[in-house]
Amino acid sequence: MQKLVAYCKNRGFVFPGSEIYGGLANTWDYGPLGVELKNNIKKAWWDYFVTRDKNSYGVDCAILMNPRVWEASGHVSSFSDPKMDCRNCKTRHRADNLISEYNNKHGIVMSVDTMTKEEMANYIKEKQIKCPNCGKCDFTEIKNFNLMFQTKRGVTEDASDTIYLRPETCQGEYINFINVQRTMRAKIPFGIGQIGKSFRNEITPGNFVFRTIEFEQMEYQLFCKPGEDEKFFNLYKQKVMDFYKSLGLPAEKLKFKDHEKLAFYAKAATDIIFNFPFGWEELNGIHNRTNYDLTRHQEFSGKNLMYLDPITNEKFIPYIIEFSVGADRLFLTLIANAYTEEKLDDGETRVVLKILPKLAPIKVAVLPLQKNLSEKADEIFKTLQQNFNCDYDESGSIGKRYRRQDEIGTPCCVTIDFDTLEDNCVTVRDRDTMKQERVNVEELINYLKRKIYNK
Ligand SMILES: [Zn+2]
Repeated sequence: MQKLVAYCKNRGFVFPGSEIYGGLANTWDYGPLGVELKNNIKKAWWDYFVTRDKNSYGVDCAILMNPRVWEASGHVSSFSDPKMDCRNCKTRHRADNLISEYNNKHGIVMSVDTMTKEEMANYIKEKQIKCPNCGKCDFTEIKNFNLMFQTKRGVTEDASDTIYLRPETCQGEYINFINVQRTMRAKIPFGIGQIGKSFRNEITPGNFVFRTIEFEQMEYQLFCKPGEDEKFFNLYKQKVMDFYKSLGLPAEKLKFKDHEKLAFYAKAATDIIFNFPFGWEELNGIHNRTNYDLTRHQEFSGKNLMYLDPITNEKFIPYIIEFSVGADRLFLTLIANAYTEEKLDDGETRVVLKILPKLAPIKVAVLPLQKNLSEKADEIFKTLQQNFNCDYDESGSIGKRYRRQDEIGTPCCVTIDFDTLEDNCVTVRDRDTMKQERVNVEELINYLKRKIYNK
């Protein structure tokens, strides 16, 4: 992981948040290559689930919502972590995480999710689980801390001005269900997708961008008829798994994992877990949320959220199948999977980011063999730039320039040499095979499109 974090920083993917001020824990800034990669990931998700599905619609809802939304969703009353303070060094910890870490270390298999606050407190005392900061076992009572960031709106400060930064994007899809259904004349089953920022006031150390206090979610809600929910739950489990494989993630690093404990309203919940450098962890959640969400919003808003089936004239509150992944977490997944150190025939080692070509931040690098070829190279660069995100590099030996592009995952390098001026052909080098091919400049754009997008 340390190697990955250093790589991401040094190559302009991800910088520590507020770095020149000493940082802010669990925040990260995406750099020039990171933002390109993240945008490509978001586009791949959107294309797969929203654009290419005729029963899918997109929304982009406000981060700040009427606080009643969070009362209806249950976040005001019960979205919290069990936390306690170390009496000795005054640091704050999550009781459930200390227990999980202790159990992992000692090979104890048990479910922490189902423990009450009292059971956790007793267990910590019994096993003498120590403060990770100072090593003492002397904690305050375990209390539940709400994870929503609060802020105030308006000029006066009283309790009624409290609003929240949304802790999840999906409530925006629920409360716009009728708007989308009506304006798009959508018929059930249909889905609403959204990509946007969410905020959670967590103290857990985050494993780089795996868990951050501010993060981007990609969430999709399928609205369906009660009774068809199980069919769609199973269908989407497979569709979502296929999506991750389509991004080049290997099957042996992906698994389904059913939840041990279901939320009281949920009928089924499965995670797709991935084998990260720090172990198997959740990548994507898939849930059968029943009609809980729309029932609650109907109750709290007083608005009719029933769907009228145009064929059978039945009225019902739809069931919701949800799947959700963090764009930042998927970013980490893909970069961790793609980062490769490769031993070459000449004994050298090259670092190469073997990311799916269509996700690569830079698609094509234009490299004039010598500076006096830059006029021709510049002309080719300008044409390619209309079609691909390109880089232009004329400094250093050609071998060094290839290595720089390998490291950031550029799938194709186009080299311009003296023959180019005679035969109008360039050399295209493939990132993974390092094989080179002569390609006529007239054919170049189509050739590169085939290599990068398979078309
Ligand atoms: Zn301590």
